[in-house]
Amino acid sequence: MVVYQNISEVRNYLKSSKGAKNIGLVPTMGALHQGHKVLIDAAKAKADLIVASIFVNPIQFNNASDYEKYPVDVDNDLGLLKAWGCDIVFMPQSNEMYGRKPIVEINHGQLQKTMEGKFKPGHFNGVSIVVIKLLNIIQPHSVFFGQKDLQQVAIIRQLIEDFSFDIDLNVVPTSREINGLAHSSRNRRLSEKERKLAPLFHEMLLKGKEMLLNGMTVQETVSTITAEFDDIEKVSLEYFEIVDPITMQKIHQFNEEQSVALCIAGSIGDVRLIDNILVERLS
Ligand code: AMP
Repeated sequence: MVVYQNISEVRNYLKSSKGAKNIGLVPTMGALHQGHKVLIDAAKAKADLIVASIFVNPIQFNNASDYEKYPVDVDNDLGLLKAWGCDIVFMPQSNEMYGRKPIVEINHGQLQKTMEGKFKPGHFNGVSIVVIKLLNIIQPHSVFFGQKDLQQVAIIRQLIEDFSFDIDLNVVPTSREINGLAHSSRNRRLSEKERKLAPLFHEMLLKGKEMLLNGMTVQETVSTITAEFDDIEKVSLEYFEIVDPITMQKIHQFNEEQSVALCIAGSIGDVRLIDNILVERLS
């Protein structure tokens, strides 16, 4: 496994090793865990040269303290990537990626007006800019993102189409602990007591799904699940929404012929977590 911090060096290396290779890119912010491993595994199944990037992208944080508290564990990350079979790691410093602050701003229209876009203004602008930069630097044939960040996937799907990137987007199902908690870099900031509370988000997604499948209306489901969070000490709900998994717009009526996503975000103590599950269309 080779590790590069400079754009020009990783470009040169990739140019010299291109040939018939199918390059797969897995973008990450480090503090790696099982959720990242499933992305590397998916990339290995499709591509023959696996590039992982590790970059805590400052411009996608709308909250300075969230950025400062973001866990960093480079030695451990490199050990994991090597063990997982990654070929190349690109881990630039912030000034390598942003010698000066980008002047472009990307407006994703309706896609950024709900959920993460609404609660974290500017977040998706930062995500899209870094993803475009990484796609231009690495020039992969395929790129791998987790379903865990479903709205991010919707934004990137649109970005690839809008900018005509010749890249195959792969969405990898969310990996979870046995108790249902989605693996996340932020989980390591949870205290022991908070960790016991954290599976609640996934439990509520499953409960919401069951309610819909049992014929409850979307409105009844949303208000019942939202009310479940009243008065739980240390847990606060930001949103629970039932949306179209491509447009990210709220749906008002559910039928089993359509696919929907149940999405949730909230905090346990001061750790913000998000999760979602899909109810797939019956085919
Ligand atoms: P992050 O390092 O949190 O920016 O995540 C990097 C990539 O890993 C993103 O595409 C995430 O959606 C994906 N990811 C994070 N957690 C999980 C998980 N539990 N299961 C699957 N993919 C995940």
